[in-house]
Amino acid sequence: MSDKKMQVVFASAEAAPFVKTGGLGDVAGSLPRALVAAGADVIVMVPKYGTIASEYTDRMEHVADFYVSLGWRNEYCGLERLVIDGVTYLFIDNERYFKRDYPYGFFDDGERFAFFSKAVTESLQHLPEGFQCDVLHCNDWHTALAPVFLREFYQGLPLYERVKTVFSIHNIAFQGQYADTILNDILGMAHIPNAARQLRCDERSINYMQGALDYSDAITTVSPSYAWEIQTPEYGEGLDGILRRRSNVLSGILNGIDTDAWNPATDPMIHVNYSAADMSGKKACKAALQEELGLEVRDDRPLMVMVTRLTRQKGMDLVTYALDRILSGGVQVAVLGTGDYEEPMRYFANKYPGTCAARITFDNALSHRMYAGADMFLMPSLFEPCGLSQMIAMRYGTLPVVRETGGLRDTVAPYNQFTGEGTGFTFANFNGDEMGDAVFRGARLYWDDHAAWDHLVQNAMAADFSWVRSADEYMNLYHNLHPEIDITKPEPVVQEPEPAEPTAVEAEPAAPEATVAKAEPAPKAEQATEPADDAKAEAPAKAEEPAPKAEPAKKTAAKKTTASKTAAKKPAARKTAATKSTATKAAEKPTAKATATKPAASKAAATKSAASKTTEAKATATKATAAKTTAKKPSTASATKTAAKSTATKAAPAKAAASKTAADKPAAAAATAPKATSTKAAPKAAAAKTAPAKVSTSKATTPSAAKATAKPAAPKATAAKAAAPKAAAQDSSAATPADKPAPKAKSVSAAKRTTRKR
Ligand code: ADP
Repeated sequence: MSDKKMQVVFASAEAAPFVKTGGLGDVAGSLPRALVAAGADVIVMVPKYGTIASEYTDRMEHVADFYVSLGWRNEYCGLERLVIDGVTYLFIDNERYFKRDYPYGFFDDGERFAFFSKAVTESLQHLPEGFQCDVLHCNDWHTALAPVFLREFYQGLPLYERVKTVFSIHNIAFQGQYADTILNDILGMAHIPNAARQLRCDERSINYMQGALDYSDAITTVSPSYAWEIQTPEYGEGLDGILRRRSNVLSGILNGIDTDAWNPATDPMIHVNYSAADMSGKKACKAALQEELGLEVRDDRPLMVMVTRLTRQKGMDLVTYALDRILSGGVQVAVLGTGDYEEPMRYFANKYPGTCAARITFDNALSHRMYAGADMFLMPSLFEPCGLSQMIAMRYGTLPVVRETGGLRDTVAPYNQFTGEGTGFTFANFNGDEMGDAVFRGARLYWDDHAAWDHLVQNAMAADFSWVRSADEYMNLYHNLHPEIDITKPEPVVQEPEPAEPTAVEAEPAAPEATVAKAEPAPKAEQATEPADDAKAEAPAKAEEPAPKAEPAKKTAAKKTTASKTAAKKPAARKTAATKSTATKAAEKPTAKATATKPAASKAAATKSAASKTTEAKATATKATAAKTTAKKPSTASATKTAAKSTATKAAPAKAAASKTAADKPAAAAATAPKATSTKAAPKAAAAKTAPAKVSTSKATTPSAAKATAKPAAPKATAAKAAAPKAAAQDSSAATPADKPAPKAKSVSAAKRTTRKR
């Protein structure tokens, strides 16, 4: 083992706080810091957009410039350095490509991000003294060509030989698909048959992401469930065949959130700070938010919010379908977002003044106030790679109502009325009535059972969504690619007293895996009795919404809550943890992963850049506009085996336990059996059936919800279905007002294709 640190170049088209249009910006803004804390050296490469605030551009230091060849072009590339919190940012400077008013959505995005990818690859020769790149970690289609360029153009150079590539899929709906004329004109690869073949997705197009999937040494995506889902035709957007073929190097590592930026106890953007121990401030936040949004200031109305891109991916069809029922049922709704469904949201805000509010804008500060002031957070996504908003909501004690897909399924544990376990309310199918039922399960609990509600809020706030666990998993992945680099933290030196006599056998600290999660006596499920008098008298919901049906015991009992628990392990454990095998072990079946966590290292001191370069200061562009990416025809599935993986998750009461009585602690263990699915040119329906019963990776320290139940997650475009036999549906939502925008029923794939592209 060498003493060398793991040195990682992390390339992303966005990184908070410089530029962010969604989750990718959050991830690139916080994961590198967590990697530094976990012991890596990290350089983040981001385009130097014209929209980056002058408070940053003024502090950037020019460190290098060179030319990058792109087909017949030779383009200038500057490297501007800024160091924050131990992370070095190198901004790729080319004003022709990046000095624009927003990050994406231009006719030449294919060329801009081909340039970015080539510039990143070329930059590895111009890194600061002492930085020798071990891992080039690329993210989404904007950087997907870097692994391709690296292998085709740079492989022979000694400096590049050691570079292993990791490609992370944050959203497979955006792939970067362009006319194949680009192959010669921009990529300069038409003469390389291997590259041309692996990039081509049909007779006229090439696909950047497809290239990365073939060329990268390891592939990750942002949740275990999504890692499974994208190997099915239903969710794979045409790349499922390649992903099944490369499943031996594919893993899902759950995103975390920046727990400093999102902390109700210290958040300067919210009305009153509060914490799990003292929730009084949350009531004040709710009242202030209701007032700010023009809603009736009443605590007897549950306030449900959405902070989201208003797209079909985010389940807006279900929302527009069910809003009449929800709003007339006594639930307040506020939406913050931009996108394809702005008009429907304005329509509902006009129709239900005082009960519904829509803010059609991108407003970070307001989003903080909404997470803090709401009771529930709605996220009924059609598909969701990971999703950060639901985690942020839980951190603020705002209970999520989510569809069980992708990362939503991995992070939100459904409420179990018999045990009191859970961190939110969930539903399985992409169906407006099911979503409405889940919303009212939440609302009824809010009205009828304050103790159970408060208990859920405590569970949600106790869940650990910090980056520590994920950063360790990424470190394990990097270590698999570079086993010669020691990623173990030095053991703290402990002064042992001289043993006076031979010691007895030392008791090994129990590994978290070995811990038996005891099933504690279930808290009594308090019967939903009468709502508060006031609410009962005034909330129309009471009359219209039938009492929640008890979930079938079979279903609820099987779903076990898993609050997160990061158990401290011996540092050495991480080194030996078996993570997914890499390309070199293609024949091996993926083994169960054991994740070890370790105390975060102190951050390297931030150094200040001295030189200042002035550019036009502009507000950070926040609107993601459509780029030409794409959805492809589902490819013929070859006979493949999906990885059999095992999941063993323990329910741990985590921090909540500290403040709760023992009887309140949810503790249960759920273990899912390894799953093996063999798909052979599977028709969609069949694939849907085998779809994510339970997904991969055994993460002993995962915060994810382990659900023992197998659930077909095949989404159906049933939003427009009005003939639900449920009384509730007939009551309020079956009758769609004539002037109400009618949601269209579309196939899932079609819907994804029309999703706003970044
Ligand atoms: P995605 O990346 O698919 O858009 P995520 O849930 O992963 O969804 O991340 C969305 C992030 O963007 C969250 O931090 C959320 O708060 C933020 N966000 C989305 N829309 C808005 C908005 N209109 N105003 C402020 N923040 C927003």
